[in-house]
Amino acid sequence: MERDFIRQGLIHSGKANNVYATNYPDYLELESSDRILAGNGAKRDIILGKGVLNNKISSTIFKYLEENGIPTHFVCEGSNEASKIVRAAQMIPLEVICRLYAAGSFSKRYGLEGKKFSEPLIEYTYKSDLYGDPIIDRKTILAIPEKTLIKNERELNLIDYYTARTGLLLSKFYYELGIKLVDFKVEYGRISSDQIVLCDEISPDTCRLIDIETGEILDKDLFRKDLGDVGKGYSKVLRRITKKEK
Ligand code: UDP
Repeated sequence: MERDFIRQGLIHSGKANNVYATNYPDYLELESSDRILAGNGAKRDIILGKGVLNNKISSTIFKYLEENGIPTHFVCEGSNEASKIVRAAQMIPLEVICRLYAAGSFSKRYGLEGKKFSEPLIEYTYKSDLYGDPIIDRKTILAIPEKTLIKNERELNLIDYYTARTGLLLSKFYYELGIKLVDFKVEYGRISSDQIVLCDEISPDTCRLIDIETGEILDKDLFRKDLGDVGKGYSKVLRRITKKEK
């Protein structure tokens, strides 16, 4: 059903996104901002144009995942190039990390940088500014439903299934663009009491992406580790996606 969505007031300004109401109560407009943060906000900056790049990349990926059987909150493009319309969801406060290769905080814990995993490896952190986003395991997630909002094992299995499948689909998507997907983070929300869908964004802010031919880093590590021009890296990702779509 096609609807005319009209943006209304700002509901929430998060770390990287702004959320607006629309004329339909069950739909929101999500705008990617130019803000960039690392180290839990210790390092921050503005990268002009990043919001547009991330929104275009993420929207294309969400459409691709929907086409391949992963339910998401994505509905359609929004009122500007940095925004999209999404189903309103009750967010589940978990960051679900999926690793195809060892990197980042994994290698800090265990070494093995660059090791390829035989299947997507899933980890969770509990999203909480108060407790500093601690790593959380499956048993703890299920033991504290009042915090995690996960009602039972079946729901957690579904999240694992969607995440691992997203990992495989996304690896293929990027491989065809000459880019290696190392790892990424996703978030989920509930659009009805028994319907969990993929939410938030999947962009170079939330993935590790490496140019297969040159080894060039194309993601937020450019900012985290001062490795180069963030906008240039993200633009390269979008350019390859756009070229493939044509
Ligand atoms: N990630 C994210 N948001 C977070 C933490 C991690 O998007 O708050 C992404 C990150 O960009 C990487 C993956 O999740 O693609 C794995 O991150 P990791 O646990 O290695 O943490 P990092 O070393 O990036 O802090």
